[in-house]
Amino acid sequence: MPMSKTIYLDNVSSSPVHQEVQKTLFDLYPIYYANSDALHTAGTDIQFMINRSRQSIADIFHIELNEIIFTSGATEANNTIIKGIAFANTAKGKHLITTKVEHSSVLASFEQLEHLFGFEVTYLDVDNEGRVSATDVLNALRPDTTLVSVMYVNNEVGTIMPIKAISDVVKKNSRAYFHVDCVQALGKIEFDLVGIDCASFSMHKINGLKGSGILFRRRHVLMTPLITGGQQEMGYRGGTSNAISEILVAKTMRLALDNQAKKHDYVVDLNQYLRTSLRAIEGIVINSPVENVSPYIVNFSCMSVTSEVMMNLLNVNGIYVSAQSTCATKSTNPSHVLAAMGVNGTRLNSTIRIGLSSSTTKEELDITCSIIKKGLQHYGKFQR
Ligand code: PMP
Repeated sequence: MPMSKTIYLDNVSSSPVHQEVQKTLFDLYPIYYANSDALHTAGTDIQFMINRSRQSIADIFHIELNEIIFTSGATEANNTIIKGIAFANTAKGKHLITTKVEHSSVLASFEQLEHLFGFEVTYLDVDNEGRVSATDVLNALRPDTTLVSVMYVNNEVGTIMPIKAISDVVKKNSRAYFHVDCVQALGKIEFDLVGIDCASFSMHKINGLKGSGILFRRRHVLMTPLITGGQQEMGYRGGTSNAISEILVAKTMRLALDNQAKKHDYVVDLNQYLRTSLRAIEGIVINSPVENVSPYIVNFSCMSVTSEVMMNLLNVNGIYVSAQSTCATKSTNPSHVLAAMGVNGTRLNSTIRIGLSSSTTKEELDITCSIIKKGLQHYGKFQR
């Protein structure tokens, strides 16, 4: 846990585990240690709890029990569905479509299919707000397209994609399956799974456990399992179940969805407050769009001060933010998302991403903005 004097504004990367999740975790761990596939009561009791969690998730999404596959998170869910669909449907074709702004777990899956397995992938451009158009998806569809994958909410800038319009286009004009990475949508914006064939979710983004996620896959979707060897997860993901984590998914989701609208309204207000404060600082350009955007994510550039310098400055002051996707922090390349939006030069190298939460306060944002302002005055060319 961060120390009390720190300000945690990196909730897009990961979020603190909800107290109720922690409590249940500690309550269950000493009791539920048996293998959930064991035939004795210790095993079947756990299997029962896992399936109860699965049923609650199915009820939340209005889907079927066996359409949920527990995974170690969204990276695994994305890899599983993208490669699994590609491999299982080669008789129909080897063409796949995605966008240039997807999470690295999606892009790397497509790149591997392209380079190692001879698939053809269309990476669609986005506009200067990071949004792909349904028309571009339509134009890219071919008779041999088997999968279209588009994220719901971009994790770097918060842009909401036109998922319903894309789903209509895919359903009316092709036999391709439609996959949506819903990681930054769950618990943050209103959405449903109508018109979506498969979706990925991650629990640690919504105050759940790390290494915990789900893959939703409609029954009709043909998919080759990647992790073979066991009967677990209907044969789609072998290996002894991470039972406690799976049992906790339902609780995590319920807590995240409780009062979602109220939390959303609070964060909308925070977002406006933050944007107003940032706009008042000389040398800041906000990269997140104004409309059709998640209020939880604010991406901006501190012109003339690189991301690294600004992040270090905030860090030494106990303020935790990130520059781009946390899955790419070891790369020295600037954000592929901002680059795809047409951002370049200094603005591209000076991005900061703030991930708000319903626990963030205006006071924390005031402190953060005052440090950013001082940083720009000290290090930047905007010195007075
Ligand atoms: N997709 C998106 C949009 C994400 O933001 C993330 C987390 N950075 C992932 C996938 C990967 O999720 P996980 O950490 O559960 O593997």
